[in-house]
Amino acid sequence: MIKGKVRRRPEGQENKKIFTGEIEVCAESMEVLNTCRKLPFEIKDFVRKSEALRMEYRYLDLRSSMMQCNLRLRSQMVMKMREYLCNLHGFVDVETPTLFKRTPGGAKEFVVPSGDPGKFYCLPQSPQQFKQLLMVAGIDRYFQLARCYRDEGSKPDRQPEFTQVDIEMSFIEQAGVMRLIEGLLQYSWPKDKGQINVPFPSMTYEDAMRHYGVDKPDTRFEMKLVDVTAAFQDTRIEFIKDALLEPEGCVQAICVPEGTKHLKAKDLEFLKQAAKTQYCQEVSVAPVRADGSMKSPLTRLLSDSARQQLLQMAQANAGDLIFITAGPRENTRPLLGKLRLQCVELLESLGVPVRDPSVFHFLWVVDFPLFLPKEDDPETLESAHHPFTAPVPEDAHLLYTQPHKVRGQHYDLVLNGCEIGGGSVRIHNASQQLYVLETILKEDPSLLSHLLEALESGAPPHGGIALGLDRLLSIIVGAPSIRDVIAFPKSFRGHDLMSHAPDFVSEDDLKPYHISVVWPNADTESQQDT
Ligand code: ASP
Repeated sequence: MIKGKVRRRPEGQENKKIFTGEIEVCAESMEVLNTCRKLPFEIKDFVRKSEALRMEYRYLDLRSSMMQCNLRLRSQMVMKMREYLCNLHGFVDVETPTLFKRTPGGAKEFVVPSGDPGKFYCLPQSPQQFKQLLMVAGIDRYFQLARCYRDEGSKPDRQPEFTQVDIEMSFIEQAGVMRLIEGLLQYSWPKDKGQINVPFPSMTYEDAMRHYGVDKPDTRFEMKLVDVTAAFQDTRIEFIKDALLEPEGCVQAICVPEGTKHLKAKDLEFLKQAAKTQYCQEVSVAPVRADGSMKSPLTRLLSDSARQQLLQMAQANAGDLIFITAGPRENTRPLLGKLRLQCVELLESLGVPVRDPSVFHFLWVVDFPLFLPKEDDPETLESAHHPFTAPVPEDAHLLYTQPHKVRGQHYDLVLNGCEIGGGSVRIHNASQQLYVLETILKEDPSLLSHLLEALESGAPPHGGIALGLDRLLSIIVGAPSIRDVIAFPKSFRGHDLMSHAPDFVSEDDLKPYHISVVWPNADTESQQDT
């Protein structure tokens, strides 16, 4: 600590490069308040350190200018959001419990022991039920910066605990929620990131799957999927003939403009191999020659007119590359959707600019199916989002006859190909909610009796949304990981590398919970944090 008088620096000694470069302190007294041990790394932005080391000494890593900017921007945005919601739009910030119980639907939850033998709390995966109960309670505009917990194992760029901007409103429709969120983002958007235009464009789930092969399309670049089945209608190519005989069998393609210039044989092999390992499906590549012919065994078997048709449908020119795959629609679309992204990442890693890193493409995706077949048991349906989503009114009658055809009043907000939010208009009728839980989803409705009784108590129509704050911020600041916008994140395996949580608890400490540990075999315990 130095005490003294601030004065102008002597002429010629100013340092224009720093903020305080025109002044100095003329010291009168000095005291050492504390000392500093030898640090594990230098606090300089250019010193490279592994992420594990950064996380172990997070309190030092947070001194970096990047982390300082990120956390300060987070705080400013959150303040603006509160201002917009509470001061300008009359929302009420309500805290809801983080000790809850296991309820059906949605992600896997963490359990927390309690003193009652055999009874456990759960950490809520979101305040979904509480915010609906608040609508019944007359808090007609609810908002919370909610900490949510999901035990989803090691998924890249996920955190077991994360923050949602959670919103619910009574007497609201889909369009009302969308306009509120557009206004909220526009109001809180950092000034130096440029303007965002509203309303955001909207796309149906069906169109997203058809053109991009994914429900969160990155609309910053084209290379859309095209159905080229017509060009192969009379094909002699055996595997395509077989594929077309399957239910929903089709031939799909994407065209990479100037692909032959940038992607070499080893790159194409890498992309083909990736498709094969991820989807067990073959992809053929057809480079387009200057004369319009294609250098591929596949297209050699096509008639001239079919080849022309293929080029025309894929809008391919000389020098382009066409990726082609055949099979049931539910496989070919996601496969090419993934390949489209892998291809662009590869091109960018080779120095070919495709996406402008300074642009922000928002997109609403709407008209999702209300239910999807369960992955491990396709005969049973599960909620595409969560069990409280209301059907699109025109489809409501199909709940009782063809539930797989019902569309939900669900909407996702996508930014640059990442889902940053999702919500829905909810079921507010107790008997419809009971039917969905019991008859369609085959869940035990008694676990949700509190919600069903609340709906029976004059629940208003209501709906809402939750924005993933961490992901939104990481996209805004261009961070490679959501960990870069969280002060104290967990590792890939959900560990805190600084404090070593989770940690062992003694048998004595476990006794009040009636818990004893069963140790797994040593060989299943050898995974590492990366
Ligand atoms: N609770 C939902 C979620 O966490 C969001 C919502 O439907 O409002 O995804």
